Amino acid sequence: MDMKQIPARSGNHNLQNYQQTYKNFNWDEVKGNFTWSKTGKVNIAYETIDKHAEDPSKKNQAALIYTSPDREEKLTFEELKKKSNQFANVLKKNDIEKGDRVFLFMHRSPEFYAAFLGILKTGAIAGPLFEAFMEQAVRDRLEDSEAKMLVTTPELIDRVPVDDLPHLEKIILVGGDESGSHISFEKEMKNASEEFEIEWLDLEDGMLLHYTSGSTGKPKGVYHVHNAMLQHYQTGKWVLDLKDDDVYWCTADPGWVTGTSYGIFAPWLNGVTNVVRGGRFSPDDWYGTIADQDVSVWYSAPTAFRKLLSAGAETAKKHDLSSLRHVLSVGEPLNPEVIAWGLEAFDLRIHDTWWMTETGAMLICNYPTMEMRPGSMGQPLPGIEASIVDNEGNELPANQMGNLAIKEGWPSMMRAVWNNPGKYESYFVNGWYVSGDSAYKDEDGYFWFQGRLDDVINTSGERVGPFEVESKLIEHEAVAEAGVIGKPDPERGEIIKAFITLREGYQKSDELLEDIRQFVKKGLSAHAAPREIEITDTIPKTRSGKIMRRLLKSWELGLPTGDTSTLEE
Ligand code: ATP
Ligand code: MG
Repeated sequence: MDMKQIPARSGNHNLQNYQQTYKNFNWDEVKGNFTWSKTGKVNIAYETIDKHAEDPSKKNQAALIYTSPDREEKLTFEELKKKSNQFANVLKKNDIEKGDRVFLFMHRSPEFYAAFLGILKTGAIAGPLFEAFMEQAVRDRLEDSEAKMLVTTPELIDRVPVDDLPHLEKIILVGGDESGSHISFEKEMKNASEEFEIEWLDLEDGMLLHYTSGSTGKPKGVYHVHNAMLQHYQTGKWVLDLKDDDVYWCTADPGWVTGTSYGIFAPWLNGVTNVVRGGRFSPDDWYGTIADQDVSVWYSAPTAFRKLLSAGAETAKKHDLSSLRHVLSVGEPLNPEVIAWGLEAFDLRIHDTWWMTETGAMLICNYPTMEMRPGSMGQPLPGIEASIVDNEGNELPANQMGNLAIKEGWPSMMRAVWNNPGKYESYFVNGWYVSGDSAYKDEDGYFWFQGRLDDVINTSGERVGPFEVESKLIEHEAVAEAGVIGKPDPERGEIIKAFITLREGYQKSDELLEDIRQFVKKGLSAHAAPREIEITDTIPKTRSGKIMRRLLKSWELGLPTGDTSTLEE
């Protein structure tokens, strides 16, 4: 197949005529799908769960399928409504009120989802933290948010510096014994009523506080409001292509924004069965989840796809993956090599989607109904105006690299950076939200990601995006993963340095390194070929799976490493 352009497939939600929809669409059109448009009473937890629980044809459908090496559980919409009501009652009893921050620091489990929804039902703001955080990371986030209550587990409680957190009034332990000084989740839930009067809110009331991945520096507390549901719902249709009988699996942890916007809201706003997998990654377990649960729509990340690719086609072939209809990716640029592998392994296109914690939902995407150009993150959603601008916020012509920017005012945009109005303001220039990513737009309106702004390399006067070089590197048969940085050079400004890991069966040798260099030179260009290539055991990544180029750079230059609270072990 010609990998430059992959033909459109069919979809369920009429983006067939993208150009037409793009021109005419207004977000107000989506409002009629929510109960609040009739009643005036708003709460996203109601729209995700209770609404379906009150629908006789949906209430017994599985909302959550939880699967892990040691536990399997199903909860229907009705059961999840009751459990989240119970937890909301537990919070009320402990004086939680609208606007309070309640944090969750625990692994994925049915209890997590019930608690998360229960928090929203009280009008409090939920703050999910990834379970692998160590003490400093937990402290920073609970301090910054002034969290009043924390839901955690006995395994993790030692990482919570309780005595140093004056705002933290109470801790609820899931799976703890009843004798401790903390509140027992199980005991309180047993005594709590399954009825709860939801706290009705305004669309602009607070919902979620997410700290960013920390790829570029200190994580920011990104504040989202209930209004985001408009976009979660609609992107669930247009981009995830969800329909009523889908079984959907988003692999992201709810400690990261993908795990809430698309691991909780988008599927449940659309009334779809949502699979959650606990436990660690392994190719067989992941393929097994698709096969066992008959997953039809699958949203994952390049880091996972690259690991599956490295595990080889035979591993994929052992499993029956025929239930899959639609596959998507987010979090990092999606290498064309990975798309080629997806076509081979599942006979499906992997659809790249671009967005950020700050943007709350997808903005630039590949839709099932559009021609895909591998390496491009796609085109802006209807209702989203995207462009490439210079540092003053002036739009640049096609094919020129610059700041990827979005016209202010989409439904799921963050409403604040917690405790940091200056940081919030700094995102906006001349009416544009400036993302911090660099990209260009081609003549046909496809956007091409080049790298984080800080990562773009200037070598002998040429601007080179690390993504292109990394993508070419992993096309080489010996290369598993690659991270590329600019290294200061007196003559050239910067030279390109690549860190790579080798696929199984390959040994380091000077010939191999030269072969890899020539491969990039021939396939990409002479100026983009790395002058230095270093083989390492691992490439440093954030816990959300992103390559941390700033860390490679500080290591290379012997500089301080900055905030590493989100560095994967
Ligand atoms: P921090 O802001 O703390 O440095 P982060 O930017 O990694 O961390 P997230 O909000 O989780 O935190 O990630 C958003 C970023 O991820 C985007 O700005 C972009 O650089 C990258 N990204 C997400 N999706 C894509 C994609 N489809 N293609 C390329 N890059 C992507
Ligand atoms: Mg960021």
